[in-house]
Amino acid sequence: MANNILEDREKRYNRIVELLYKYNLPILCGKINYPGNNKNTKEAQIAFLVLKEYIEQEFKDIIIHSEILKGQDGQSIIGVLKTDPLEAKKRAVYIEERNKIGRIFDIDIYDNKGYPIERGSVGRDRRSCIICGKDTIECMRTNRHSKEEILSKINSIIMDNDIS
Ligand SMILES: [Zn+2]
Repeated sequence: MANNILEDREKRYNRIVELLYKYNLPILCGKINYPGNNKNTKEAQIAFLVLKEYIEQEFKDIIIHSEILKGQDGQSIIGVLKTDPLEAKKRAVYIEERNKIGRIFDIDIYDNKGYPIERGSVGRDRRSCIICGKDTIECMRTNRHSKEEILSKINSIIMDNDIS
């Protein structure tokens, strides 16, 4: 993976740690699950705008600070949440599951110590493969689908999304 993408991820993680120290509250980090080295394509930007709007709606009563980060790893939204981390994770999963485009959203919730809340904590399984519906980890390990196939599937999910 390109170095600047990894550097960008590290920068984002460091910002999350700073916010944890400052607020001592759960943190949300939302981004687009977008493969390849260019994570700022037109499609990725469209998807991010939808994600940002959904997060702002769904968390509006409990988000006390939010910021947008931009970089080589694509755009992300970070929010500080005045709530229980499990409640926050339930809302995050709701956004990820409420319609088709949600499938490419990645909304992580960290508790006030910085530990990520797993999907299993709110009664959900690991997410299934976007192409074949089998276990994603297994598809990645065996390279079952080409990068091109995954990218084109993701772009079509974004462009077919009925933003209403
Ligand atoms: Zn698969």
